[in-house]
Amino acid sequence: MILKDKVAIVTGGARGIGKEMAISLAREGANVAIADINTQILTETEKEISSLGVGVLTVACDVSSLSEVEEMVNKTLDKFKKIDILINNAGITRDTLLVRMSEDDWDKVLAVNLKGTFNYTKTVSKIMIKQRSGKILNIASIIGLIGNIGQANYAASKAGIIGLTKTTAKELAPRGINVNAIAPGFIQTEMTKALPERVKSKMLEVIPLKRFGSPTDVANLAVFLVSENAAYITGQVICIDGGIV
Ligand code: NDP
Repeated sequence: MILKDKVAIVTGGARGIGKEMAISLAREGANVAIADINTQILTETEKEISSLGVGVLTVACDVSSLSEVEEMVNKTLDKFKKIDILINNAGITRDTLLVRMSEDDWDKVLAVNLKGTFNYTKTVSKIMIKQRSGKILNIASIIGLIGNIGQANYAASKAGIIGLTKTTAKELAPRGINVNAIAPGFIQTEMTKALPERVKSKMLEVIPLKRFGSPTDVANLAVFLVSENAAYITGQVICIDGGIV
């Protein structure tokens, strides 16, 4: 077990990629605190993870609210006394062409994806600085690197996460904290389930490995990046996309 007795926060960890990462961290021995707005499935996820024999905390928390984030981080500290790993995973889409995009579509996506990552990074890094160690992993997207029609808000938020990753990596490196990002391609979750079949088959055509990714593909990389095996890696954006980028 490469993460035995570590304490990890995973945002948006009630389902999808976040849940799979939380499970993988737990399998490697980490205690896990999950922040999510989907309270309906949080309890189920909590049961699943605690059956792996680690400590689990689930907190209803909107990552776009700094006060809710601070409260969640305090609860994690009260229960586990330290925070070794932060995975900023919570994210949403509100896809439409730029000319049709409402101010609310723009604001909401930027608030959850980018400001949510800022809120957690700022709050948790203060604790990691005192500890003089920590691993922060941000879930970006290849769309933040290459853009995509109908996703101006999402692409901007994910490109912002990449800039935030590179800057915080430089600021926090002297304190023993690694900050990296994963940029997934098309991963099969509820987020992508909603896409029409014709869009999915078009996407498959541009994936050299000729399959969609799974949450497990992403979780395997996440476990490596937050472990001591990746101690000399910081400020990187790693694509996991079947070869698209
Ligand atoms: P899902 O929609 O399946 O899961 C995201 C989880 O985050 C849900 O539980 C969701 O709750 C929760 N969430 C949404 N908004 C907030 C918020 N404000 N505060 C706290 N939690 C919130 O998404 P995926 O697992 O597919 O995606 C996870 C991350 O990976 C996202 O950042 C996404 O952008 C990124 N990504 C995904 C790709 C894919 O192909 N799936 C590709 C590239 C990047 P609720 O269920 O209520 O919405």
